[in-house]
Amino acid sequence: MTIRMNRRSFINRVGLATAGLAAPGGVVPLHGADRPLSAFKNWIWTGLDERSTPDQQKRRFESYREAGIQAVLFSGVDARVFALAKEQGLETHAWTWTLCRGDKDLLEQHADWYGVSRSGESTANKPPYVGYYHFLCPSREEVGDHLARLFAGIAETPNLDGVHLDYIRYPDVILPVALWKQYNLVQNEELPPFDFCYCAVCRAAFKKQSGIDPLELPDPPADAAWRQYRYDTVTRLVNRLADVIHQQGKQATAAVFPTPGIARKLVRQDWARWNLDAVLPMTYHSFYNEQIGWIEQSVKEGVTALPPGRPLYAGLHLPDFKTDAEFDQAVRGALAGGAKGVALFGGLRNIRTATGL
Ligand SMILES: [Zn+2]
Repeated sequence: MTIRMNRRSFINRVGLATAGLAAPGGVVPLHGADRPLSAFKNWIWTGLDERSTPDQQKRRFESYREAGIQAVLFSGVDARVFALAKEQGLETHAWTWTLCRGDKDLLEQHADWYGVSRSGESTANKPPYVGYYHFLCPSREEVGDHLARLFAGIAETPNLDGVHLDYIRYPDVILPVALWKQYNLVQNEELPPFDFCYCAVCRAAFKKQSGIDPLELPDPPADAAWRQYRYDTVTRLVNRLADVIHQQGKQATAAVFPTPGIARKLVRQDWARWNLDAVLPMTYHSFYNEQIGWIEQSVKEGVTALPPGRPLYAGLHLPDFKTDAEFDQAVRGALAGGAKGVALFGGLRNIRTATGL
């Protein structure tokens, strides 16, 4: 991941800050006077950059701090890199693939652990949409056991503050609307090749619970109990993994689809019910053909659905912002909607002036 730091715009922003958007010391959040300051933080998703020297890492982490970042989501695990980030006062989180796992040994030895579509195809050998979409079935005990061991191992890493779950969901039964063209699809309804999971374990478990095999439902997408069954399988798995992470004294967070409604509809995530320390919804307006103002509304929906006090950090997709003014509008919208900060995906931008952190 490259860091794009526009020096001129950074200086302009420092100018803005001194014009009164941030108090001296820069610690007055726009909407945070009544909330504990510690809950406010901004995040960035990035690689370990293991080949960088400690000096280079130090400069990189300093640039994050200068830009207003307090927490780093690393796509990888390395206690030495985490130590260097912590030396610069940053929180360290291990961004981790959860149900989408194309591990060679799993695919070879446990092909039966993978999800099966309504058209009978397994993600082990026929992943939907893209080659890496090998999604495990969340109903299987063995999958839960495997992931619990994996996450316990990650959570034990020294100098790590938290474990972050991504791809904790079913494959998209409906893609975000802006992506339909790319895949040459029209998904106004749940189509069988993208609807999961109809493996033997799921079918038997739902039949035990409801008396009917989901494949025999007259209209599976219209069946509320069958939808709920799938929300519950993901929720149970998340809560199990959160317990494992918490046992190591670490924070458990997740990347989720932008609003509770969209998340349930597209990927069966009922994330407001998950026992996490925080959620980071991917409020990527461009994926839904929306304007920047949509971010505030989406954040508001999430905050309203979550238990009181549970922090939400709005994920922003940096390539979507053509100017710093657009980016500032997004950050301010997120905070106005009740977010406790933003999470940057796809690069670095200075967020100090907009957040006051
Ligand atoms: Zn299944």
